[in-house]
Amino acid sequence: MEFDLPAKKRVGDFITEQVTLGLGLLLDMQVSQQRLWHDWSSLTDDERAALMKDLLLGLHEEASELQRSADRSRYHLLKLPPLPTREKFAEDVVDTLKYLLAIAALLGLDCHDLARAFAAKTLHVAERWGQEKMELKQTTRVLMVDIDGVLADWLGGFLAYLNGALGEPIDPRLVNHQSMDQRKDAFHASGGFKKLDVLPGAVETLTWIRSLGYKIALVTARPHRRFPNIYRDTVDWLEQAGIKYDILLFEREKDVVLSRLAPATILAHVEDRARHASEMAAAGVRVLKMPTPEDPHVEHPLITHVKDWDEVRTELRRLVSLDVRNVMRAAIEEG
Ligand SMILES: [Mg+2]
Repeated sequence: MEFDLPAKKRVGDFITEQVTLGLGLLLDMQVSQQRLWHDWSSLTDDERAALMKDLLLGLHEEASELQRSADRSRYHLLKLPPLPTREKFAEDVVDTLKYLLAIAALLGLDCHDLARAFAAKTLHVAERWGQEKMELKQTTRVLMVDIDGVLADWLGGFLAYLNGALGEPIDPRLVNHQSMDQRKDAFHASGGFKKLDVLPGAVETLTWIRSLGYKIALVTARPHRRFPNIYRDTVDWLEQAGIKYDILLFEREKDVVLSRLAPATILAHVEDRARHASEMAAAGVRVLKMPTPEDPHVEHPLITHVKDWDEVRTELRRLVSLDVRNVMRAAIEEG
């Protein structure tokens, strides 16, 4: 069966009866075998905890075994390994899968839960792949935009969270101090990014610049690997806020960002943090720098300080007209 995986499909579209049924059969087979050793319904809490620990250790061992046999044979480098190797791989994969299924069952998950989560994860990966895969040509013109402190009122949201959830108002000048790291983690895990306000004028300006044919590349250093909810929270927030974009990069390393956007022409980068602004400017990118409390002041010929989106728009208008002139001049020279 072939699956068509464009972004923007609904999770429900991926859940077919066959997928649920197939997972259900595997799960049933594993659970009935498991019951030969234990009657799960009569386990005490301690016994369940011990069983879960055994299963997790077993899973870990089987995954290591799989890694060893793949490394040893290096047949995984071939598209079609010889039969005995395929059988060995299949056995190792199944050993791992059986532990996973037993763990799922012990956690009380059924085939519907698994089919749904599998579909959601597949959709999520397809969506990210689609966004990161966008083809950029030399003639593509891009506006890079940071999210927190630029599109989203991160500071206001974080202070409100500290005040409301923890009942401890803090001095806004301390938000980027190391002592805030744990509180930031709690904010990230709580879905705090979903509740941020959009900074005034941001949506209108991005809509306008996009209508002129520029692509919007959103660049954020949000820790999406440590907090698996962050990717979804970000995408949902952008949709809710009505922010249209072309690429979303969870990356802050300047070199990686620029190589992802190459060979497109970057009109400017809108940024609120001094360090990132300086790095981009040093790499030759024009930066529109929005304010952040307690950030050092930076000066560079390519950095223009702006106080809000009204000023960003004024600057962009100027840059667009320069850009148009350059494009026209190049076209005339090319004849
Ligand atoms: Mg920022």
